[in-house]
Amino acid sequence: MKAMILEAVGMPLRPVDRPDPVPGKGQLMLKAEACAVCRTDLHVCDGDLPNPKLPLVPGHEIVGIVEAVGEGIAASRLGQRVGVPWLGHTCGCCSFCRGGEENLCDEPQFTGYTRDGGFATHVVADADYAFVLDSAADPVALAPLLCAGLIGWRSLKKAGDGKKIGLYGFGAAAHIIAQICRWQGRDVYAFSRSGDEAAQRFALGLGAVWAGGSDERPPVMLDAAIIFAPVGELVPAALKAVRKGGRVVCGGIHMSDLPAMPYALIWGERSVVSVANLTRKDAEEFFPVALQAGVHTHTKTYRLADANAALDDLRAGRLSGAAVLIP
Ligand SMILES: [Zn+2]
Ligand SMILES: [Zn+2]
Repeated sequence: MKAMILEAVGMPLRPVDRPDPVPGKGQLMLKAEACAVCRTDLHVCDGDLPNPKLPLVPGHEIVGIVEAVGEGIAASRLGQRVGVPWLGHTCGCCSFCRGGEENLCDEPQFTGYTRDGGFATHVVADADYAFVLDSAADPVALAPLLCAGLIGWRSLKKAGDGKKIGLYGFGAAAHIIAQICRWQGRDVYAFSRSGDEAAQRFALGLGAVWAGGSDERPPVMLDAAIIFAPVGELVPAALKAVRKGGRVVCGGIHMSDLPAMPYALIWGERSVVSVANLTRKDAEEFFPVALQAGVHTHTKTYRLADANAALDDLRAGRLSGAAVLIP
């Protein structure tokens, strides 16, 4: 197999050849068709998240075809198209797993962080966390659904049922969730870096009713806001934009420090909540919704060997939509 590996945080990824991985008990081995690049990959590679497995194959938005099965997995899964997300394993026995909150598991493993991921031609994954995907769909279009879509969906559920939804940071997740909001009959207010007219045009093209800079106030008070950009200063900005009882959801795994702010910003039963990982139930709900809503992902493809260029483009904000590696 070929893979791009991280040997030390802060270093560029390096191409390597390795023996193909062998699936263990309860696992699958897949031949990767596509792997999208997530902002969390940047946080892993840059050392913002503690203690990654090293050396590491990053990547956790993997679409592939099952090529081998481990002990306990039916041979009927061979040839199936599956998607592998960030949450790659849960213990199944901690209080969170037993209580329906496996996203908060005490002993989790994360794809492309604490175990090898999809910046590679072949990947091993737990069969329980390899979701069956449409075999007729374009694997490149599916890949961003595995994290941007799933985490975006969980964030949207946390945001509640309000009609007016603000999205801060109009990247891969927001561009998917904006389409779902529109399909649900909600109004999207899109916030991006001040002066980023390309992002604002992109948001309006996807059906946002308003697009502006994150330092601007929307024309109406919002029912909820979701922050996808890893910028702590956006929390007080979003609190100012939501109505009484409104909610601000932080959808990212890493965010810069939140600034001190007056209590008045959360007065009126406004709340701030984070979203951690995903559950299998989120996936069961989300993939049919994405299909029904006709979600169209905007992607830019890169060869596996160009993974560093994809990470750089994401870091520099040069993408509309999602970067996808093709192994
Ligand atoms: Zn657990
Ligand atoms: Zn991700």
